[in-house]
Amino acid sequence: MTKTLPTSTEHGNENRTRKGPVFIWTARLKIRYKQIMSEFSASLDSLWAVQKHDKQLVRERERVAKAARDLAAEQAKVDAGAAKLEQEREKLRLLKKQHKDLEGELQRLDSRVKQLEAQGTEKGTEAAAKQRANIDEMETEGLDLLAQISAQEGEVEKFQEALRLRNEALLAATRTTGEQTRTAEEAIEKATGERHGAAGQVVPELLSVYDEVNARHPGNALCHIEGEFCAGCQGALNSQLTMQVRARREILRCPNCARILDA
Ligand SMILES: [Zn+2]
Repeated sequence: MTKTLPTSTEHGNENRTRKGPVFIWTARLKIRYKQIMSEFSASLDSLWAVQKHDKQLVRERERVAKAARDLAAEQAKVDAGAAKLEQEREKLRLLKKQHKDLEGELQRLDSRVKQLEAQGTEKGTEAAAKQRANIDEMETEGLDLLAQISAQEGEVEKFQEALRLRNEALLAATRTTGEQTRTAEEAIEKATGERHGAAGQVVPELLSVYDEVNARHPGNALCHIEGEFCAGCQGALNSQLTMQVRARREILRCPNCARILDA
């Protein structure tokens, strides 16, 4: 890359006045200066390539995060469905227990009635009749409980089916989000490699400032100027700064948002 100055002998003109050392020093400095400037300008170009990969990294990482959120949402639906089903099953267990207790009570009353009738007394017959009235009432209650149990069994089946469907949806989401995550991770790996290559073309000082700004504005640390405004934050820039930015000779940042500015 380094261009050497042609010496007077290379011109093949021995009679030509030799350039003094000050001239050579100044000329070399100018060339070196131009070289540094063009290196910086090329660095800025490469930095845009770095940022292109960083933008992709941001997008792919968002995809990974979204896939995780989607899967968690499906899992939450399954958990809610399972909790609801358990609630309905508990209601059914309670109704069945009530019915079982009632049956026990009815059996107890039945044998009591038989005992009273066996006494063969008027008092016993009277008491037996009273108990039979109780039994009738409890049998009606029992029938009502059976109807409630049957209805509740229907509810349990309904929620079981709902949970089955939610589990199917979860399985499908596991497959879809797993595929999305794998694709995104492959893209992240590729972009990371390419970014590394592009970053190697950027002068370390510029890259280090960029990395710092990129942590604050992921994928959006380097921006153009639009007239006298920063395209990153729309903040106004003074004309001195925009002139320096257009020259592309040094690291210049927006005083508002701290982004690195380019023409
Ligand atoms: Zn700005």
